[in-house]
Amino acid sequence: MARAAVIGAGIGGLTAAVALQRRGWEVTVFERAASLEPVGSGLAVAANALRALDTLGAGDEIRELSAIQGSGGMRRSDGRWLVRTSVEAASARNGGDSVVLLRRPDLVDVLSARLAPGTVRLNTEVSEVDAENGLVTLPDGPVEADLVVAADGIHSPIRSALFPGHPGPRYAGVTSWRMLIPAEGVPGQAYESWGRGRVFGVMPLAGGTFYCYATDTVPAGGGGGDQLAELRRLFGDWHSPIPELLAAASPEKVLRNDVHHLATPLPAMHRGRVAMLGDAAHAMTPNMGQGACQAIEDAVVLAHVVGDGERFTGGTGAYGEGAVPPGGSGGSGGSGGLAGYTAARLERTSRIVARSATICRITRLRDPLAVRLRDAMVTLSWRLAPSRVHGPMDEVLSWTPPSA
Ligand SMILES: Cc1cc2nc3c(=O)[nH]c(=O)nc-3n(C[C@H](O)[C@H](O)[C@H](O)COP(=O)(O)OP(=O)(O)OC[C@H]3O[C@@H](n4cnc5c(N)ncnc54)[C@H](O)[C@@H]3O)c2cc1C
Repeated sequence: MARAAVIGAGIGGLTAAVALQRRGWEVTVFERAASLEPVGSGLAVAANALRALDTLGAGDEIRELSAIQGSGGMRRSDGRWLVRTSVEAASARNGGDSVVLLRRPDLVDVLSARLAPGTVRLNTEVSEVDAENGLVTLPDGPVEADLVVAADGIHSPIRSALFPGHPGPRYAGVTSWRMLIPAEGVPGQAYESWGRGRVFGVMPLAGGTFYCYATDTVPAGGGGGDQLAELRRLFGDWHSPIPELLAAASPEKVLRNDVHHLATPLPAMHRGRVAMLGDAAHAMTPNMGQGACQAIEDAVVLAHVVGDGERFTGGTGAYGEGAVPPGGSGGSGGSGGLAGYTAARLERTSRIVARSATICRITRLRDPLAVRLRDAMVTLSWRLAPSRVHGPMDEVLSWTPPSA
């Protein structure tokens, strides 16, 4: 039986482990942290990722645990609607699913419950990878694998080692906050409000809890102190129910991260026996809500490309039972090896990284005149040419996984 070593037990690494085990691979996940998903927040899982999760038998459980991102839209900081979106229209355009909202730990639980006992080794940091020979160095020595999945996140040391000429992550100019807020009685509507260089997103989850996120255009490296007080200072005079939600939040539940992304795409998503996956391969700004969704897509495509672990005969050339044509999402036969994985994933994910970065740049506008112009353009384009506005997102959401 072929062996896979997965580095990192984030959403990307766990999905890859589930997908590979279902194809008969013997999988071990090495995670340096002491627990899975130590910091809880919310997550939007879009139709494309739900379809990928369906292939792992996990889609319906996720749908049951989630709230559907109902009708909502975009607002100004004073509450005026710039754009109203309809969940029915979005679902009709995207084959019945749109976007569901849930707690990240729930997704992590659903994935890890599908793994064979003992798959994940916590407190185990990988210090080095030999890509040609599939050697992964652990604190207690090296292990060999036929396939190494580098799902070690945005600051991936494995990416730096395998692609030394790549410039690495770049600060996107915004810092972000995320929090879960129990708030019964607040109207359950999902929207994102844009102000001068700032964004506040409200997403109702199942059971009277809200997932809220915010960004502000500031130099990197801030933080420390009471982040909830900072949020109340920045957003306390925004439209209702933002101040009410912030009043109900707990300071210890606020997670702050500077937003970095891989503005320059990697030249490939593999090297030797190593497949790069998720944020390690294509970290993006959160503006399209696709970072984890793309990691989930990567995982399902990778398992399809490398094929049946029980029939694997060794060596990188042996991958490819289900090689995927360039840019395509399905097909089988051929022997693309991990090059088939790069061919299927690099172009798509690079496009999404670039689109997310463009939206991020637009949210950073601070000049009052530029902001007024931006807001008018958003409303006008939605009214006059809606398909030009939602077309790029629909292209992302309409992705289908490779067939078995
Ligand atoms: C504000 C914000 C909101 C977001 N909202 C959404 C959203 O709604 N929808 C969405 O799809 N995406 C969203 N994202 C993006 C999403 O969070 C990420 O894209 C996703 O979590 C990446 O998963 P990953 O598994 O690739 O990496 P990570 O989650 O970073 O996991 C990497 C893991 O590798 C481990 N690790 C690192 N180095 C080593 C090592 N040497 N040895 C062993 N283990 C190691 C780490 O401890 C970690 O557990 C958002 C991001 C932000 C910042």
